[in-house]
Amino acid sequence: MPYPVLKMLIAGEWTNGSSSKSEPVICPADGTTLGTLPHASPADLDAALRSSLDGFNVWRKMTPHSRQTILEKAACLLEDRFEDISANLTREMGKPVSESRIELRVAIDLLRWYAEEGKRVYGRIIPSRFPNMQHEARKEPVGPVVAFVAWNFPATNVMRKVAGALAAGCSITIKPSEETPATAIAIGRALTDAGLPAGVLNIVFGVPPEVSEHLLASPIPRKLSFTGSVPVGIHLQKLAAQNMIRCTMELGGHSPVMVFEDCDIESAAKLCAAGKFRNAGQVCISPTRFFIQDKIHDKFLALFKEHVEAVKVGDGLAEGINMGPLVAERRIEIMDGFVSDAVSNGAELLVGGSRIQSAGSFFAPTLLQEVPDTARIMTEEPFGPIAPTARFSSLEEVIHLANSLPFGLAAYAFTGSAKTAGVLKQEIEAGMLAINSLHVHSVETPFGGLKFSGYGHEGGIEGLEVFLATRYSSEIYG
Ligand code: NAD
Repeated sequence: MPYPVLKMLIAGEWTNGSSSKSEPVICPADGTTLGTLPHASPADLDAALRSSLDGFNVWRKMTPHSRQTILEKAACLLEDRFEDISANLTREMGKPVSESRIELRVAIDLLRWYAEEGKRVYGRIIPSRFPNMQHEARKEPVGPVVAFVAWNFPATNVMRKVAGALAAGCSITIKPSEETPATAIAIGRALTDAGLPAGVLNIVFGVPPEVSEHLLASPIPRKLSFTGSVPVGIHLQKLAAQNMIRCTMELGGHSPVMVFEDCDIESAAKLCAAGKFRNAGQVCISPTRFFIQDKIHDKFLALFKEHVEAVKVGDGLAEGINMGPLVAERRIEIMDGFVSDAVSNGAELLVGGSRIQSAGSFFAPTLLQEVPDTARIMTEEPFGPIAPTARFSSLEEVIHLANSLPFGLAAYAFTGSAKTAGVLKQEIEAGMLAINSLHVHSVETPFGGLKFSGYGHEGGIEGLEVFLATRYSSEIYG
């Protein structure tokens, strides 16, 4: 199956737009050009905005049951096209095709779950303090949505926004990542082929700051949903403020992993290695700061090292691969910088530490021990296949370390103590905490951060709520 011809979706039409600008999409496994991505002109963006308002006025008036019929049909079409979409996701993003399949499966589950949940948007009747008066609180779709998403999960980053928005009755204009456009286009094609009315979904591409400035300067969008880094999130929030556009911000993290002496050490070491190198560590909830209790430090590190050395790196389309390339060449230099800075600050390099020489952007799975707080990697999100480890002695100390950064996305702990688990649930400043696993999300659970990791949720009923506005009315009767 070849990589598809890339188009934008504007006002119900698949189009190259009216701009003559475009950019190549590069395969990170071998540096070849996969396709050419058209960019939207300002006039194309205006057309998308106008159609999103028209689409909203059609879609919001349809019953949740009719909306669900279309969304369910799109889920079936994605299933029919499953293998082609998964392979192209790997081609453009690099992750092993086994991971692409899991990601697409989750994306389809998200679409189905939200399509169903859209039928359960309830308001409430509030008892009145005045006779013959009724108070009513209704939940209505908030309006046309604009969304921008990162490249690391080309299917689920898009679907978390599209499924929630559409199920709530909103229209949505999305700018997926220019590095991974084919997956978003495949999702769009499934929805349009399933009968989604024109304008309800628009997909545009371009120079990201230019697109966001144009879209957010318009009075049409009523909601912005962003998945990406903290600095860009802050910038977009400022743009959205000009038009009082409400926001959901799914931003970066730097997730602590607390490995206590009373845990199942073998299981913890295996899970940590599998979790760390998933998607080459390019995951917002990736475990990124490993704190190991003194008494088990050496034993845990020995086991962890064995698992890291066993990670098989290669082209994601090849059989038996655990880790593919980084998304683009630019990420290699960033990884090199983290490793050399950590080593010059006194950390010891146990495994990896450099690029793997080949045509693509491959970086070796890397393990560092005794990494001091002064190393950049202990405060800046690495977003790559590097596991920095350090020691701790007490529960109080590790809570302090875990909470010491401005991020608050995910956190993990391995412990056999119910008491420790209880304290962590209360004290750890993270939107998501997993104890004795690295599992922090399912389609039905709230996914989102605290502090600089953002606010608002995707997943669960919370992920529908962010696309709804509460409207109150009172009525005198009798
Ligand atoms: P980034 O913020 O630079 O880019 C993310 C996406 O936003 C890209 O598609 C990019 O094209 C787009 N973008 C960049 N500047 C923009 C602008 N001015 N206007 C509109 N769009 C813009 O981040 P990155 O380094 O490419 O991606 C990784 C970051 O994303 C990490 O910090 C990671 O933790 C975060 N992330 C968060 C979540 C989450 O759910 N919390 C999920 C995935 C990734």
